[in-house]
Amino acid sequence: MEIFRKVADMQAFAKKTVREGKKIALVPTMGFLHEGHLSLIDRACAEADVVIVSIFVNPTQFGPTEDLDKYPRDFQRDKDLCEVHGASAIFAPEPEEMYASDRSIWVDEEKLSKKLCGKSRPIHFRGVCTVVSKLFNICLPDVAIFGQKDAQQALIIKRMVRDLNFPVEIIVSPLIREASGLALSSRNKYLTDEQKNDALSLSRSLNMAKELISQKGLCACDEAVKMMRDEITKCHGEIDYVECLDSNTLEAPVENTTEILIAVAVKFGTTRLIDNVLLGV
Ligand code: AMP
Repeated sequence: MEIFRKVADMQAFAKKTVREGKKIALVPTMGFLHEGHLSLIDRACAEADVVIVSIFVNPTQFGPTEDLDKYPRDFQRDKDLCEVHGASAIFAPEPEEMYASDRSIWVDEEKLSKKLCGKSRPIHFRGVCTVVSKLFNICLPDVAIFGQKDAQQALIIKRMVRDLNFPVEIIVSPLIREASGLALSSRNKYLTDEQKNDALSLSRSLNMAKELISQKGLCACDEAVKMMRDEITKCHGEIDYVECLDSNTLEAPVENTTEILIAVAVKFGTTRLIDNVLLGV
C-alpha cells in the first residue's frame, strides 16, 4: 500500500492508474477509522481496481468554536486497517499542502446546505464541498463512497456532482451501528460511559418514530418528532434538531414524497452526535 502526503505525488499515481485503464474508487475520511469507515473501504474494493482512502481532518469544514484541534487521530492504526481491508493507497496531506494561504475559491451549495446541520454549522458544507472537489481533482476517482451516516452530506455531494458535472459516480453505503444501536462515529470517543448510555436514546427514538410513521402515515410526523424530543431530553440530550423531511429535497414531506429522512443532531455534554433513518412512505 502506498502512502502519499503530497498532492503532486497522489495526482501522479492517479494519472498513471487512469492511463493503465484501471478503475479508481475514493473513500474520503477524517481518519480515526471504525467499522463504518471500513464498510466503505470494503464497498470500494468491490467496485474498483484501485482504492484510495483519504485521511484528512479538513479545517475548512470546522467552525471557530468546533473540535478541530481535539479531533481524534491515530495514523498508524488507520494505516494498518486500510492495509488489512485492501486499500491500494492512502492520501494523508497536511492542511498547508491542501490549502494555499491566499486561497480564494470555494465550492458552495446554496440550498440543501441551509437545512439540518447547516443551521448550526453555516460554513460546514462549503468546506466539505470544497475539499471533496479538491480530492476528486487530486485522486481522479471513477466512483466515490460516502456513508448514509452523514445523510445530508451525501445528498449535497450528489447535487454537487450533478450540478458541476464531475465524472464521478457517488455510492451511498449503509449506516453501521454498534450492537447497542449507537451509530459508529469517531466522536464517540469523547463520550463518557454515562453519556454513551444516554446517546442510545437517539437510535431508540429514531426506531420508535419509524414505527409510528409506518403505522399512521405522514400525518404522524409531528407526533413522532415530539415523542423523539421527549425521549432524548429525558436522557439529558441537548437537541440541535429533530426533523422528518423529504429525503430528496430536505423540505417538509408533501403528497408525492416517496421517502422520508428522520434526522437528529444532539449534544451529550460537549459532544455533538448525528443519526438518522430512512423510511419509504
Ligand atoms: P468522517 O471520517 O466522519 O468524515 O466520515 C467519513 C465517511 O465515513 C463519511 O462518508 C461518513 O458518512 C462515513 N461514515 C462515518 N460513520 C459511519 C457509519 N457509522 N456508518 C457508515 N458510514 C459512516
